[in-house]
Amino acid sequence: MSTSLLYHAFGLIDQQFLKAEFKNGLVIFHIKTKESKLRCGNCGSRNVLKSGTIDRLFRTIPIGFKPVYLFAKVQRLQCLECGVTRQERLTYADEKKAIPVASPTLLPDCFLS
Ligand SMILES: [Zn+2]
Repeated sequence: MSTSLLYHAFGLIDQQFLKAEFKNGLVIFHIKTKESKLRCGNCGSRNVLKSGTIDRLFRTIPIGFKPVYLFAKVQRLQCLECGVTRQERLTYADEKKAIPVASPTLLPDCFLS
């Protein structure tokens, strides 16, 4: 498993592979946006400062019969051009469709460790 598999198999062109977990029949890829691809979510400037991360979980296409999740470290960014601080804009998912990581009733036990 590598960043190139994320690119070729899932089309995640700006993501860096961190690790894979295989728990309880699930496949979980931990990812984050490559440093060189971080941009202000408001104006698109690259003149930004990192300001913490937020965990987000997305379900993606399965591999065979195994459900696959993307566990994303979404970067909060402070823009030095427009002054806005907000999370990066994700190119691979609708931010509103993330599964709440803090909601135990929605997540399999393997996410709670
Ligand atoms: Zn900006």
